[in-house]
Amino acid sequence: MNLMNSKKDFVIALDGPSASGKSTLGERLANSLNFIYLDTGVMYRAVTLAVLNMGVDVSDEDAVSRIAEKLDLDVRPPSIADGRSNDIILNDDDVTWTIRTAEVEKNVSQVSAYSRVRQAMTRIQRRIGKRGNVVMVGRDIGTVVLPDAEIKLYLDASAEERARRRFLELRKRGKDVEYKDILQDMIKRDQFDSSRPIAPLKPAEDAIIINSDDMNADEVFQRIMGLLNEFHKD
Ligand code: C5P
Repeated sequence: MNLMNSKKDFVIALDGPSASGKSTLGERLANSLNFIYLDTGVMYRAVTLAVLNMGVDVSDEDAVSRIAEKLDLDVRPPSIADGRSNDIILNDDDVTWTIRTAEVEKNVSQVSAYSRVRQAMTRIQRRIGKRGNVVMVGRDIGTVVLPDAEIKLYLDASAEERARRRFLELRKRGKDVEYKDILQDMIKRDQFDSSRPIAPLKPAEDAIIINSDDMNADEVFQRIMGLLNEFHKD
């Protein structure tokens, strides 16, 4: 059966640690299947940026939660060809690259561990998931946000390999970064995300786990498309 012509609606939940290649894979799957693509990390990053911009202390859970509950965030098709996959608009400002700064990355795990922040984001994500034909990428999509997703994928790779990929990507964008700093920050963020009590980063029990240490992006994509075709035969 050709998936592109399939009439059957389904949802793909794609989770995994930072820089495991989820966004690249998710976007490619969504394009091939003509599905909506939602990168939920962008939402937590946007809340964090709003908190920092307003000068609010990230440890003030109530103030941070109120910002998340009123977040004015929009994700639009890309207006500039600078490597972005979408325009991320926060309060009418284009924050597509600002949400990717080290400052945001240092604080995002703390912000996303707050229960009211997660509730606010999860509500929006579920609404989008309900429409079907969605590829949703994050940390808790298969476990909490869309536990009924037909396809659950968990993309993993060693911290060293993920840091190496992130390092090369940032260097390519002209950033003056050190590999060891990237590795250290990544391990810290993943540990925080995996050990939080609410919606921690972990594979769902019925997730297909793929380790991409020895696979390039193309091979991972082909492997998943093969699995999806099997799924559609049933
Ligand atoms: O995927 P990305 O690196 O953009 O995610 C940024 C952060 O947002 C993660 O480190 C995690 O703390 C948080 N996040 C989350 N749940 C999701 C997606 C992201 O807690 N579904």
